[in-house]
Amino acid sequence: MSKLMIIGCGGVASVAIHKVCQNDEVFDELMIASRTVSKCDALKEKLQGQTKTKITTAQIDADDVEALTKLIKEYKPDAVLNVALPYQDLTIMDACLAAGVDYIDTANYEPEDTEDPEWRKIYEKRCKELGFSAYFDYSWQWAYEDKFKAAGLTALLGTGFDPGVTSVFAAYAKKHYFDTIDTIDILDCNGGDHGYPFATNFNPEINLREVSAPGSYMENGKWIEIPAMSIKREYDFEGVGKKDMYLLHHEEIEALGRNMPEVKRIRFFMTFGQSYLTHMNCLENVGMLSTTPINYNGQEIVPIQFLKALLPDPASLGPRTKGKTNIGCIFTGKKDGKERSIYIYNVCDHQECYKEVGSQAISYTTGVPAMIGAMLVATGQWKKPGVFTTDEFDPDPYMEALNKWGLPWKVEENPVLVD
Ligand code: NDP
Repeated sequence: MSKLMIIGCGGVASVAIHKVCQNDEVFDELMIASRTVSKCDALKEKLQGQTKTKITTAQIDADDVEALTKLIKEYKPDAVLNVALPYQDLTIMDACLAAGVDYIDTANYEPEDTEDPEWRKIYEKRCKELGFSAYFDYSWQWAYEDKFKAAGLTALLGTGFDPGVTSVFAAYAKKHYFDTIDTIDILDCNGGDHGYPFATNFNPEINLREVSAPGSYMENGKWIEIPAMSIKREYDFEGVGKKDMYLLHHEEIEALGRNMPEVKRIRFFMTFGQSYLTHMNCLENVGMLSTTPINYNGQEIVPIQFLKALLPDPASLGPRTKGKTNIGCIFTGKKDGKERSIYIYNVCDHQECYKEVGSQAISYTTGVPAMIGAMLVATGQWKKPGVFTTDEFDPDPYMEALNKWGLPWKVEENPVLVD
């Protein structure tokens, strides 16, 4: 039996909390701690009659390491699952170390204030040395390796779908299908339609920062950066049909590039409709995606945060979104001296997710793997001292759990490749 603390109570957290409560054979106690405690209380109210999991709630500002350490020490969970924002990754890791508890998250660290001169100095050095300019990267969290090792604690980074499941697919392909993997193409297709001209499927600030950044991919261990949205391909996805997809920078490329150095090329593609791209370009051109505060009538406003307040709350898209997602990885390589290619993927239906947990498929495909990662760490199946991504453990129990907890996957031999 395990006791879990979940930090954050937004779109992804809501699914993770539903799944933890379904999995009450493993999780007998759960604390939901977030900035706005009324959201935690509302979920507790909804779920407590339907589960054996004992739910408690707490108000917490996860930027406050001291207060968070105190809360963790009082509650004494087996693990902390961070589904707040990437801005809180380091403070929550610090609190877990101080309280002696394992740490799990779904997205790598990025700073809230990208104008902070201290951060910027390190960022600009990294851009020059490594050759990619995204604001987020693993270096900040990998730097905790020695501390987690010395404390005998596990930090599991990025257990959402992408990153998360996609890296488990890579470990699974390596274990069961290939002697050597030559290329990995990660494909993220959302065929869902919410009926709005423009909305984001998860936190708008994080989503728009990611999508408007230059694209990049790894070839022979080196990053190649390209202007945003400048590599476009069409792909025919099962359950969705033909979609345009664009090459993006994505964090699992960095981890897979480090942990599977034999792979010659790793790319990530995401589908976007024309309406999304037109709106995003326009908003960027007028400065609405900026993270730099401006002064408006005596009040300081961060443009992208103001935009977030105008856009539909991703959590409200659930009842309106129809269609399917298809996310997976195409691997090429060799087995027993012969060329081989496979596509490992999951198809998820937005309306089915809504019926089950009241959320659309983007939150669902992230929240389910978040629960699975937390389960494997809390039950000791994925436990070793240090800081790890999901490709660094035995993929088999994770793959089994995906089938059991709502994200069944398939393996297609000889898929159409992306040129
Ligand atoms: P939301 O904005 O919906 O939710 C964020 C939650 O965190 C809110 O409840 C918010 O509180 C809370 N929060 C924010 N700041 C603090 C703080 N300082 N202290 C305590 N709580 C805080 O985001 P999502 O659910 O869409 O995303 C959650 C995470 O999942 C993000 O890190 C995102 O990058 C990641 N993600 C990962 C994916 C993957 O596949 N790996 C895919 C999609 C998302 P409040 O209610 O007060 O706003």
